[in-house]
Amino acid sequence: MPPDVVARFADSPNRLVATTVVRRERLSPGFVRVGLTGPGVGLLADLGRDLRVKILLPGPDGYPASLSDGSSEAAWRAAWRGLPAQKRPVMRSYTAPRIVPEQRTLDLDFFLHDPAGPASRWAARARAGDPLLVSAPAAARAPASYGVQWAPGLATRVLVGADETAFPAVAGILASLGRDVRATVLLECGDPADVVPFVGAGPGASPGVEVRVLQRGGRPGGVVLLAAVREWAERYGAGAAAAGAGFYAWCATESARVAEVRRCLLGAGLAGTQVHTQGYWIDRSGAARHPEG
Ligand SMILES: Cc1cc2nc3c(=O)[nH]c(=O)nc-3n(C[C@H](O)[C@H](O)[C@H](O)COP(=O)(O)OP(=O)(O)OC[C@H]3O[C@@H](n4cnc5c(N)ncnc54)[C@H](O)[C@@H]3O)c2cc1C
Repeated sequence: MPPDVVARFADSPNRLVATTVVRRERLSPGFVRVGLTGPGVGLLADLGRDLRVKILLPGPDGYPASLSDGSSEAAWRAAWRGLPAQKRPVMRSYTAPRIVPEQRTLDLDFFLHDPAGPASRWAARARAGDPLLVSAPAAARAPASYGVQWAPGLATRVLVGADETAFPAVAGILASLGRDVRATVLLECGDPADVVPFVGAGPGASPGVEVRVLQRGGRPGGVVLLAAVREWAERYGAGAAAAGAGFYAWCATESARVAEVRRCLLGAGLAGTQVHTQGYWIDRSGAARHPEG
C-alpha cells in the first residue's frame, strides 16, 4: 500500500464487518432499504447524522479470504489493494444513520439509479442470507463525529441541499436537529414519492423545518438543486454570511454540480467554515457537460 494510504488509515477506527441481508424493503419507487445483521454490528458506533460507511460488494464467488471480519481499515485496504484488480470487490460509499448495536442490525437505503451500477444492482436483487462487507466505526475507538461531515456547531439557522443519494443522510441530519434550529431543506428528486420516507410524514412535518421538493424534470442530476441554491443565495446569502457561526450549510449531490453550489455560496459571502459541500456521485453520462440541457 502506498505510504500516504498507510498514513491516512493507520488511525482509522473503522473495522470491517461481515453482515448478511435479513430483509429488503421497497421504501418508495426509487428506494430500497436493505436490513443487515452480523455479530460485528454489535461493536459498531451508532453515530447517526450523515455517517459514511464503505461497502464492499461480493463477486460471483463471494469474497477473497484476505478480506476478513474484524480487520482494521488499514488492514482491509492493504488486503484489498493487494488483490488483482479484477478480483477486488467493488467499493462504494453509503450512509448508515440507523445502526442498532444492541440488536446487531443496520439499514442501508439504496437509490436505484438509472443506469444502474454494481451497488444499485446488488441492492435491487438482495435476498435474505446474501453477504455484504461493511466498513464502519467501532464504538470502542471512534470519536463522536468520525465519518460524520454534518458539523453545524452552534448554528441555529441551516441550509440543507440534497439529491436522492443524500436523502438517507438528510433523514439522519433532520433527526439530530435541536428544537431551536430553523432549517431550509432543498431536495431534488425525479419522483416526489422518493422524498416521503426521509422527511417524516411529509414536507414541513417538523416545526422549524421548511422542506422544498424540487423536481428534476429530466435534467441532469444536481442542476435543479444548484438553481435553487442560487436563488436562495441571492435572497438570503448576505444575511447568512453576517450570521457567522450562527449559520451553516450542508449540500450533497453530483460532484461537478456540488462544486458549483460551493462556489455560489462562497460567492454570496459565506465563509468556508460555514459551508460543507460533498460530491456523492459522478455523472458519467456526459450530460454534466451540458448543465442546462
Ligand atoms: C458519503 C456518501 C454517502 C452516500 N450515501 C448514499 C446512500 O445512503 N444511498 C445511496 O443511494 N447513495 C449514496 N451515495 C451515492 C452512491 O455512493 C453513488 O450513487 C454510487 O455511484 C452508486 O454506486 P453504483 O455502483 O450503484 O453506481 P456506479 O457504478 O458508481 O455508477 C454507474 C453509473 O450510474 C451513474 N450514477 C451513479 N449514481 C447515480 C445517481 N444517483 N443518479 C444517476 N446516475 C447515477 C454513474 O454516472 C454511472 O454512469 C453516497 C455517496 C457518498 C460519497
